Amino acid sequence: MSLARKNIEKVTPYQAGKPIEETRREFKLKDVVKLASNENPFGASPKAVEAARKALKSVHRYPDPGGYCLKRKLARAYNLEADQIIIGNGSDELIDIVIKTFVEDDEQVITAETTFLEYGIIAGVLGRQVVTVPLRYFTYDLEAIRKNITGKTKIVFIANPNNPTGTYVNERSLREFLMKIPAHVIVVIDEAYDTFIDVTDFPSTLRYVRTNNVIVLKTFSKAYGLAGLRLGYGIAAPELIGLMERARQPFNVNALAQAAGIAALDDRRYLKRTRAGILEGKRFLYGFFKSRGLAYVPSVANFVLVDVGCDGVEVFRKMLKLGVIVRDMQQYGLRNFIRVTIGTKKENEKFAKALKKVL
Ligand code: PMP
Repeated sequence: MSLARKNIEKVTPYQAGKPIEETRREFKLKDVVKLASNENPFGASPKAVEAARKALKSVHRYPDPGGYCLKRKLARAYNLEADQIIIGNGSDELIDIVIKTFVEDDEQVITAETTFLEYGIIAGVLGRQVVTVPLRYFTYDLEAIRKNITGKTKIVFIANPNNPTGTYVNERSLREFLMKIPAHVIVVIDEAYDTFIDVTDFPSTLRYVRTNNVIVLKTFSKAYGLAGLRLGYGIAAPELIGLMERARQPFNVNALAQAAGIAALDDRRYLKRTRAGILEGKRFLYGFFKSRGLAYVPSVANFVLVDVGCDGVEVFRKMLKLGVIVRDMQQYGLRNFIRVTIGTKKENEKFAKALKKVL
């Protein structure tokens, strides 16, 4: 007999990208590249690393529970008030806080069928029902999502850009969708990858935070290169933030992450270089896929979903042996696809060489 709550039995655990060290050990390899978790391949901003190092001196003290300096810095950057911001141990934790704060036991969460798995997993752990709606042409189908909203719906999660497809919902579609959303529903827009976009019709969501039940989630794990420190934040109306603060643990964001986050926000040059490097890498990968006749989904993020024309799990396994970690899409139900994170020039070339060999 299981000791767990009933809904824990039903949860499929999150499968993270395979770590570099583990792959080195398993396959006795020296040179391993990880293109599996959409991290920043260029490392963190040296300024952020230095700030974290300085913060080490005070690790015998608890971190600032309110994240005063970090929130002030973010508020200034976005022209917001600090009470419109909540900080989290990665945006993962904010997904958890949002569901705990707003969704009653008998209420539902809606998201896409093929999107970031944590929305469904966290809701499942908390015993809330999840309704998933298929994508349309690899993109969130907002009209279909709207039709699935009932009196029981409490939250709609939209990853924009979407992971694992790299597609996006544009300004007009989002505006029209939000106009038709009933007042009892909160729309969470997860913008983990917004820093990489290279299109002009991407929505400016902060304006909706002022007028709608909208919560915007952002992270320092991707473009800012601080995935290992765990830092994310949410932006919403003060009333919603105030409610979420009740469900947040006081010391959820550690002192190193707070210090590094503040410094990272100041390093505009680093961000600009990261963006340029990712866009260059994307052009290289597109060119490579085209040269091999492989169909891919055009991406506005730092990863590309590509149809390898055969079992993606097999391709993933064979590439591991060659020292390249990508992501198979089995958990997402996309059998013939892999997702590759855009890496440095050298990493992208190693990936291309390995994929050529495997196929
Ligand atoms: N949202 C999306 C869409 C993601 O892809 C990820 C990371 N894979 C996250 C949120 C979580 O990021 P973090 O917890 O590192 O901030």
